[in-house]
Amino acid sequence: MSSTIKKNKEAEQRAKKRIFVGLLLGSLLFLAAVVAFAWWLVSRQAFYLNKILLTVVIAVAIVFFVLLSVGLLGLIWSLWRSKEIAPLQSIMRTATRVLFPLAIWMGKWLGLAEEKIKSSYIQVSNQLVRTQTKLKAYQKVMLLAPHCLQWIHCPHKITINVDNCKRCGHCPIADLLDLAQKTGAHLEVVTGGTMARKVIKEYHPQAVVAIACERDLTSGIQDVEGLPVLGIVNERPEGPCANTRVDLSKVEEAIRGFRQETGISNER
Ligand code: SF4
Repeated sequence: MSSTIKKNKEAEQRAKKRIFVGLLLGSLLFLAAVVAFAWWLVSRQAFYLNKILLTVVIAVAIVFFVLLSVGLLGLIWSLWRSKEIAPLQSIMRTATRVLFPLAIWMGKWLGLAEEKIKSSYIQVSNQLVRTQTKLKAYQKVMLLAPHCLQWIHCPHKITINVDNCKRCGHCPIADLLDLAQKTGAHLEVVTGGTMARKVIKEYHPQAVVAIACERDLTSGIQDVEGLPVLGIVNERPEGPCANTRVDLSKVEEAIRGFRQETGISNER
């Protein structure tokens, strides 16, 4: 029974990743069509100077297109084989970054919800981070949690100091404190991207496990380039930004993954 659930979960995650990878490929093909159209216009140009100028522009566009294709193919191969391609890391990141807005636009045009596309991007990013970090063990792991996990009526200021939480158990902050204590991760509760960047700068973590909504995770992951970040999307049973929840087993799995510890302990 549990293996069926696991298989269904894996199939669901694969399907999620395919959305973003498919949109990236679609965006690349769209760019190829634009370049081909521009080339066709050049071939019909009568003026010699215009022709030279446009040929240079098209040549640069083709080089750029080839680099994006190499980055995207590297990304697909890395996801498919779960293997890191170290020399292509920066080109893969550039391809994703450049094609990302186009992929969002294309997905929306195809009628996909922006949240779904961003969730797919987070899955892709997480798998790449797991692939890149699977042989490394990080000691300084930061757990970044959003303020909206705190019970909305709680009077304690946990963004100033998370230890102000009285662990009453009314919201997941108490569980996250226990988890941080158990795993040795450094927990910070932040009000948004600016504060997240500030605490990262102050603590200098080697790796980050971040909990947030799709929008904040997507921009956060892109902001802290070079630092391995595993993103976990929060649950919003009462709508966005209030009394949100998180799957603690996913958080623990992510922290232990960075530490090269396997399995999730049951003592909680
Ligand atoms: S667990 Fe902590 S943060 Fe949550 S409501 Fe209780 S005291 Fe407030």
